[in-house]
Amino acid sequence: MTSGVWDVCVLGAGPGGYAAAMRAHDLGKRVVVVERGQVGGAGIHAGALSSKTMWHLSNDYAVAARSDRGYRMPGGIEVSYPKVIESVRTAVSERRSLLDRQLASLTTPSQNGGIVTLVRGTARFISPHEVEVKRNDGTLEKITAKNFVLATGSRPRVPDTIPVDGEIVVTSDQIESFKEFPESMVIVGAGVIGCEYATMFANFGKTKIHIIDRQPRILPFEDEDIAEEVASSFESMGVVIHRASKLETLKVKDGKVEYVITNAEGKTETIHVERALVSVGRIPATSDLGLEAAGVKLDKSSGVVVEHTRSTTPHIYAAGDATMDIALVNVAELEGRYAVEKMFDLEPRPIRYEALSAIMFLKPEVASVGLNETKAKENKVPYRVGVVANRLICRNIAMRETSGFIKLLSSPTTNKILGLRVVGSEASSTIQGIAFLIDQDATLEDVDHCVHPHPAITEGVQECARMLLGRSVMKVDVFGREGLLRCGEG
Ligand SMILES: Cc1cc2nc3c(=O)[nH]c(=O)nc-3n(C[C@H](O)[C@H](O)[C@H](O)COP(=O)(O)OP(=O)(O)OC[C@H]3O[C@@H](n4cnc5c(N)ncnc54)[C@H](O)[C@@H]3O)c2cc1C
Repeated sequence: MTSGVWDVCVLGAGPGGYAAAMRAHDLGKRVVVVERGQVGGAGIHAGALSSKTMWHLSNDYAVAARSDRGYRMPGGIEVSYPKVIESVRTAVSERRSLLDRQLASLTTPSQNGGIVTLVRGTARFISPHEVEVKRNDGTLEKITAKNFVLATGSRPRVPDTIPVDGEIVVTSDQIESFKEFPESMVIVGAGVIGCEYATMFANFGKTKIHIIDRQPRILPFEDEDIAEEVASSFESMGVVIHRASKLETLKVKDGKVEYVITNAEGKTETIHVERALVSVGRIPATSDLGLEAAGVKLDKSSGVVVEHTRSTTPHIYAAGDATMDIALVNVAELEGRYAVEKMFDLEPRPIRYEALSAIMFLKPEVASVGLNETKAKENKVPYRVGVVANRLICRNIAMRETSGFIKLLSSPTTNKILGLRVVGSEASSTIQGIAFLIDQDATLEDVDHCVHPHPAITEGVQECARMLLGRSVMKVDVFGREGLLRCGEG
């Protein structure tokens, strides 16, 4: 049933669109969701969940393959790419079936009249309140709604000069289609997605990985010490990083990849590998939405121009990657929910983008919340910084995983916590508490006062706070000389 005027029409059923639909359902609204591909979007498929499943499997494999832990698999361990991908697909379908099941049960009105209907097809605006949907069976349908949420996500950016064929030269959309682990693969682009796949393939130990980046270092938006920690871990796993290198050409020759770079010394190198992964960013999927018919403006990067999720046409909102300022599942969901609350005048609390938390699934894992030193300097925010090496933290010693460090930033005038970076095993589970404290405008004293469990990596966060307060258990005078503790300002 897609007739009548809907309260809300959501374009895209990825994390942003799905969350928006569910929030509108809470409010007793009649909601239609149009999805052209798979429910869950890149939050699940060829994206966050699928890649994180593969990351976990690769980590488990790497740990099982270690020989320094008092145990060893007799005869070594086998791994096959198709079997790994089978596990990835099981995870994806488990999650998708939950989303599908919920959608199916919301097609009958709830007590407050809320209803959510899914239409499978591709939508484009034909007027500010109407979209035409080309259903997946080829039929056309018109949907009229009072409000819209654009949550159409993004797609990989592919430079014209790189011949992506989906088989030998792929993007993250096609990487699961390899028949076997390639013997070697070049990754073009050393941002988060490129570095995450470098980690996974290096963990499995079957593929020689090369990474090309135009910058002198990987992860250029992160602090230098963090990027260097990851880079040296990559190099210790045999990953070749072409730093400050320009990709001149990349082509398929005799079924393999030949690429030419100009390296940091200005010399030209020609290198042959079996496969290439192109990972040079993503662009908003907005080009075929007919947005001109609705008066919605786009910025230079094709992202929907928004102010607090509202587009230049007041009844049309946008969430997630379609705006492309930050491409994360949690942000897409927050924005989708926020857009609906704003649409129905609930006056939601503004999203605190400065207190966002994120994880980079690398080796070592990097988790972040709030400011880093790079951003603080860029925005001229004065800060104090305390760094504790994981080698000093009992839990890391017990895990036999002592690489990495914890870095806490605070305000020099108020001691308010500004940001945290955790680099090392289990980093992701360490930042949540601080994300909450930043949201509450908490201070170093609050972190010091809190009772942390033992042994826990968060004790390292507490030690950073104590160091900044001049009362740490482990002393900078002793361990600072070895670079295990650092206290500074910027
Ligand atoms: C490899 C990879 C790994 C990632 N890892 C993480 C991670 O670990 N953590 C994290 O937070 N984020 C991660 N992300 C980012 C995250 O997946 C995205 O930020 C998030 O999915 C964006 O949600 P969205 O709802 O805006 O868009 P999407 O998830 O892209 O969903 C948009 C949906 O809209 C549909 N659509 C598009 N156009 C139309 C149309 N015209 N009509 C109808 N439907 C349409 C699409 O089919 C799609 O299903 C990763 C992304 C990738 C690619």
